Amino acid sequence: MDYFLTEEQAMIRDLARQISDEKVMPVRAELDEKGEFPWDIVHTLAQSDFFGINISEEYGGMGLGGFEFCLAVEELSRACLGVSTTYAANALGTYPLMLYGSEEQKKKYLPDIASGKRLVAFGLTEANAGSDAAGIQTTATLDGNEYILNGTKQWITNGGEAEIYTIIAMTNKSKGARGASAFVVEKGTPGFSFGKKENKLGIRASITKELVFDNCRIPKENLIGKQGLGFIVAMKTLDKSRTGVGAQGVGVAQGAFEAAAEFAKERQQFGQPVISIQAVQHMLADMATEIEAARALVYSVAKYVDSGVKDVSKESAMAKLFATDMAMKVTVDAVQVMGGSGYMKEYPVEKMMRDAKILQIYEGTNQIQRNVIGQALIKETAKKK
Ligand SMILES: Cc1cc2nc3c(=O)[nH]c(=O)nc-3n(C[C@H](O)[C@H](O)[C@H](O)COP(=O)(O)OP(=O)(O)OC[C@H]3O[C@@H](n4cnc5c(N)ncnc54)[C@H](O)[C@@H]3O)c2cc1C
Repeated sequence: MDYFLTEEQAMIRDLARQISDEKVMPVRAELDEKGEFPWDIVHTLAQSDFFGINISEEYGGMGLGGFEFCLAVEELSRACLGVSTTYAANALGTYPLMLYGSEEQKKKYLPDIASGKRLVAFGLTEANAGSDAAGIQTTATLDGNEYILNGTKQWITNGGEAEIYTIIAMTNKSKGARGASAFVVEKGTPGFSFGKKENKLGIRASITKELVFDNCRIPKENLIGKQGLGFIVAMKTLDKSRTGVGAQGVGVAQGAFEAAAEFAKERQQFGQPVISIQAVQHMLADMATEIEAARALVYSVAKYVDSGVKDVSKESAMAKLFATDMAMKVTVDAVQVMGGSGYMKEYPVEKMMRDAKILQIYEGTNQIQRNVIGQALIKETAKKK
C-alpha cells in the first residue's frame, strides 16, 4: 500500500532498506549464532545520520519525528531484530534527555548521540522490579554536589557498549513512585561497572547486560528534570518509544512473510508449487492483511505522537500491543508455510520467530499494554459522564 511518503521519508526508508539488504542480511545469521554486537552496522548507520533522525537540528540531528524513525526501524527489523533493537534502544535511552534534559545536558550529549559517536542505554529494570517498576531498589543519595548511586540494573540493552546511560533510581524510598529520579551516567565513571551478559533465545546480536553501581558518584547536574520526576520521565519515555517497538513488529513480520511467500513459490508438492494450494494461500493472505493493518496503526500512532498531543499512552500501547502480537503470529505462520525447511537455520524465519517473542515482553509486556489501555478507557468513560 502507498502511504504517500514525502521525498525525504521515502529516502530514509530506501536507505534503511539498502543498508538492511547489503549490510545486515549477509551477516545476520552469523551475528545470531555468535551473539555478536553489530558494530560495523552501527558505524554504517552513524555514517548515514540514522542516529539523528528524530533529534532536533539545533543539536546536530535531522529534526524529523518518530514517524521517520519508525520507517528506519521497520526496514532494519525486516532484516534483523537484533540489529534494530540495538538501534531502537538507543532512542529509548535518548528520550529522557530529549524530553526532560536541561539545555546544558542537551548541548553536552545530543550532538554525540545524533552523530552516532556515542551509544545510549536506558536502565529501569531490576531483578525484583520488572512490570512493577515502582519496586526498584537502586538508590541515588545526594551528598553535597554529588549523587551517590548504589544498586544493580538487569537486562539492559546496549549495556557495556553504550557510553551514555539514562538511569532511574530512588532518591526518596518513603515516597514510593514519587520518590524516583532520572539521571545520566557516563561509562567510565568510578563505581559504575558491567555484570552478567545474557545468553538469549533471540535478538542475539543485541547485547543485554547488568549495570552495577557501587558508590558511584555523579555530579548533581546529572539529574534529569527534577528530583521525584523519575517515573514520569520513564513513563513518558516509554510512551514515545513503544510505537517504535510496534514498527519492529511490522518489520520482522514483513521479512518473515517475504521469505515464506518466496519459498512457497519454489517448493513443489503434489506436482505444483505449494503457493497454488488454497490452504497455503489463505495463510499468506491472513499474514499480509494483518501486517498491513498493523502498519496502518503504527504509522497513524507515530504521526499522532509527533503532532505533540499531550497524552499518548493509550495509542502507543495499542500500536505496540497489536503490532507485536501480530508479529509473533505471522512469524510462527511463516515457519508453518515453509514446513520443515522453516525450522532449519538455512532459512531466516526460525530466527525471526525466536526474535519476535521479545517484542511481546520488553518495554512493558503485552499484558501491561492491555492494563495501560484499560486504565485510559476507564478515564475516558469517567470524563464522558
Ligand atoms: C532482552 C531484553 C532486553 C531488555 N532491555 C531493557 C532495557 O534496555 N532497559 C530496561 O530498563 N529494561 C529492559 N528489559 C526489561 C523488560 O522491560 C522487562 O523484562 C519487562 O518489563 C517485564 O518484566 P519482567 O521480565 O520482570 O516480567 P514480570 O514483571 O516478572 O512479569 C511476569 C509475568 O507476569 C505478568 N504480569 C506482571 N504484572 C502484571 C500485571 N500487573 N498485570 C498483568 N500481568 C502482569 C507479565 O505480563 C508476565 O507475563 C529487557 C528485557 C529483556 C528480556
